[in-house]
Amino acid sequence: MIKTPITPTIPLDQDGAHHGFLRLPYSRDDSAWGSVMIPITVIQNGPGPTALLTGANHGDEYEGPIALQELTVTLKPEDITGRVIIVPAFNYPAFRAGTRTSPIDKGNMNRSFPGRPDGTPTEKIADYFQRVLLPMADIAVDFHSGGKTLDFLPFAAVHILDDKSLEAACVRAMRAFNAPYSVRMREIDNVGMYDTAVEEMGKVLVTTELGGGGTSTARSNAIAKKGARNVLIHAGILDAEMQIDDTVTLTMPDDDCFLFSEGEGLYEALVDLGDPVRKGDVVARRWPVDRTGQVPVDYHARRGGILISRHHPGLIKSGDCVAVIGDVVG
Ligand SMILES: [Zn+2]
Repeated sequence: MIKTPITPTIPLDQDGAHHGFLRLPYSRDDSAWGSVMIPITVIQNGPGPTALLTGANHGDEYEGPIALQELTVTLKPEDITGRVIIVPAFNYPAFRAGTRTSPIDKGNMNRSFPGRPDGTPTEKIADYFQRVLLPMADIAVDFHSGGKTLDFLPFAAVHILDDKSLEAACVRAMRAFNAPYSVRMREIDNVGMYDTAVEEMGKVLVTTELGGGGTSTARSNAIAKKGARNVLIHAGILDAEMQIDDTVTLTMPDDDCFLFSEGEGLYEALVDLGDPVRKGDVVARRWPVDRTGQVPVDYHARRGGILISRHHPGLIKSGDCVAVIGDVVG
């Protein structure tokens, strides 16, 4: 028996569709013996593979929660073989606040793994995934977007891994997800990530960046819904026909993909998402906010490719990610 403060209100291993909560005790001013109630659905039909589908790892990213809410209503036990575990809002307090990190402890779920059973609420949720839910899973899909401060071309992604057979399995699942863009990415900061926890357990992971700006669109939601369904078919859980459309394959091979701001100001984009960029091109510029008559500071691309991500708000600060450029490989 694993010691954890989190209790599921539904069985995690019984046939049928079960909708309930992961109940995390959280004693606070407005509720002395209160809990954080994280919605979860488990749909199971006999033995078979398990998929773990998560949204709102960051609370201000919405395609995952929308696609997964729909799946909890539309996916029927009789349609599947095995099990689908659906948590539409992984960092539930952050999701309810509409913020990237938890308002309770400022925890960034994707920097909190492997978590702690006796840690902050964010660390307790991470620990529950690390030691209870992930070991049950064969394949995981974690839906991300840019949140309020970034915007992305819609892509599914895998990481460049030391374990090449696992990487190949992740690539096959990414191709099944079939977003308009498919990216093999290096992480700039992979310590504490859910992705790393999944991969270190030898499980297949598909992650996504489907849009951003703190909202979702008809197009980005349709990509998320198709991707979730396709991955369940790919995993042998859902018996149906995959919908496969064209995808552009990109890589993010080195640090030159990333541009960071070294000052603050008014952000002007000169290149839009999906546009081609050559090395040295000015992709954005920064105007002063406090005076007139000064030339702007230009942000030059450090490599060629296409623009896959950009800063979203109208103002920019020192240290903010200005742009990410990917290399088109096919
Ligand atoms: Zn995210």
